[in-house]
Amino acid sequence: MTPDPPAAEAPARRGTLNARVERIFDHASDTRSLFLSLTSGKHLRFLPGQFISITIPLGDETRSRPYSVASDPEDRGPFEICFNRVEGGRGVAWLFDRRVGDTLDFSGPFGAFAIDRAPEVAELGFIAEGTAIAPIRSMLKRALASSSPSKIHLIYAAPDREHVLYAAELDEIARSAPNFSYETVIAHPEEISDRLFELAQARWVTGDADRMRHFYVCGVGKGVIRLRDLLRGAGYERRSVHYEQW
Ligand SMILES: Cc1cc2nc3c(=O)[nH]c(=O)nc-3n(C[C@H](O)[C@H](O)[C@H](O)COP(=O)(O)OP(=O)(O)OC[C@H]3O[C@@H](n4cnc5c(N)ncnc54)[C@H](O)[C@@H]3O)c2cc1C
Repeated sequence: MTPDPPAAEAPARRGTLNARVERIFDHASDTRSLFLSLTSGKHLRFLPGQFISITIPLGDETRSRPYSVASDPEDRGPFEICFNRVEGGRGVAWLFDRRVGDTLDFSGPFGAFAIDRAPEVAELGFIAEGTAIAPIRSMLKRALASSSPSKIHLIYAAPDREHVLYAAELDEIARSAPNFSYETVIAHPEEISDRLFELAQARWVTGDADRMRHFYVCGVGKGVIRLRDLLRGAGYERRSVHYEQW
């Protein structure tokens, strides 16, 4: 007999939760996933796309930094966060120093950049770069499990092949789910924003007159806002263009 799944931890808007590092996976030398489980033994309940806010003690200060949950909310095992080193980023450096068995405090999950039920539209467009695939991955899983599946297309940018995270998984989904397709953009970090803009424009703005799609865009910096403005300016409804800027 399969044991009952652990009880779900209700979303904690305030208050601190504590998690243990169960497993570490290095996607690349500067990009890592931590698999975390609540020390309470409960299961973290979150919406695909939401983030947790991790307490990072740095000696001279305590930071709180958001990290999106990258895993499928239906998974009953540890949940996953995925992050990359950034220049001068002391908060994320602390996360890289965590070892299996260490614990950390966090609050959440939080965030309105989330999919509860996939919208019933003909096509969903996802745009991500680097580790910003984390919330998108979780959302994709929910959208793909939808009972009335939309066509789903992902445009995913990275500085090189090594930083196309979850590539094998995305390939497998593209093979097995007829409604899913994705394309990768490999470009110098300074060019990623322009390349994403051009691709989104060609595909979803000048490509046809359909303006019923919904979009989920996530990335670092102002490129996210340019994409949002491109899509909204092209006639997509404001509420159909969801975005999260890191
Ligand atoms: C809602 C939300 C969810 C987030 N989820 C994730 C996540 O799942 N994975 C993740 O790696 N980061 C994520 N971030 C960014 C993360 O919270 C931190 O900002 C980042 O790890 C750097 O923190 P730091 O304290 O080390 O450096 P800081 O001193 O705070 O930042 C240094 C510089 O790095 C830039 N930066 C922030 N994130 C990145 C990045 N990923 N790549 C390149 N430059 C960056 C900042 O704009 C800043 O200029 C998220 C941010 C937000 C707002």
